[in-house]
Amino acid sequence: MSTMDSALQARLARVHERISAAARAAGRDPASIRLLAVSKTFDSDHVLAAHRAGQRAFGENYVQEGVDKIARLRELAPAPALEWHFIGPLQSNKTRPIAEHFDWVQSVDRLRIAQRLSEQRPPHLPPLNLLLQVNISGEATKSGVPEQDTAALAAAAASLPNVRLRGLMAIPAPAVGLDAQRAPLSALRRLFESLRERHALDTLSMGMSDDLEAAILEGATMVRIGSAIFGARTRSAAENA
Ligand SMILES: *Cc1c(COP(=O)(O)O)cnc(C)c1O
Repeated sequence: MSTMDSALQARLARVHERISAAARAAGRDPASIRLLAVSKTFDSDHVLAAHRAGQRAFGENYVQEGVDKIARLRELAPAPALEWHFIGPLQSNKTRPIAEHFDWVQSVDRLRIAQRLSEQRPPHLPPLNLLLQVNISGEATKSGVPEQDTAALAAAAASLPNVRLRGLMAIPAPAVGLDAQRAPLSALRRLFESLRERHALDTLSMGMSDDLEAAILEGATMVRIGSAIFGARTRSAAENA
């Protein structure tokens, strides 16, 4: 086994332990929490190593980097069965490659984007799974639909033909300590509960490397973990833009 494989396998195992421990503390079944491995800035060899360690779902933030990685991995024979989630900022002139290549989009924050993704989803593919990104900390600069506009956006997105609304996602402002971390996650959970039955939602995506315990205590069904699996990122977002 290569050094990359064994290091990655050890970090992935540690993340699974953290998820299980947090689930036990919350009285939840660890199997009710999905792990999304955030592979942004890491190349396809890292994705393959994570795949060899049993990981199936991967998250990408940058359109071109994500599409290139997806294409490279599909060229391999036999191609690994991977599930790809787009989790980065969305521009309406860049939705087509996302609709054509990804399985999920977690960062939908306005109707125009959801409409374009629905229109551009190729007919031979299953519906694109959507999460609405909510600006739960109310920060003026962050993307995400304002909390008070989420119900209307959910209703509109749920009526589109080639997408399937699955739930909500948020990236709260960084906070230190479990209680401070839990407050915005708890607000997202309440919003999710208020919409869940009406739209048959099943996915609450919250929790990253530093706050996955708080997110699982607050009911996350999917955690998005990057650095705790792949190690520290050396390339910045700006270099990928
Ligand atoms: C980068 C990123 C993550 C993963 O962050 P880590 O702190 O490395 O776990 C999760 N979600 C989104 C939307 C991201 O951009």
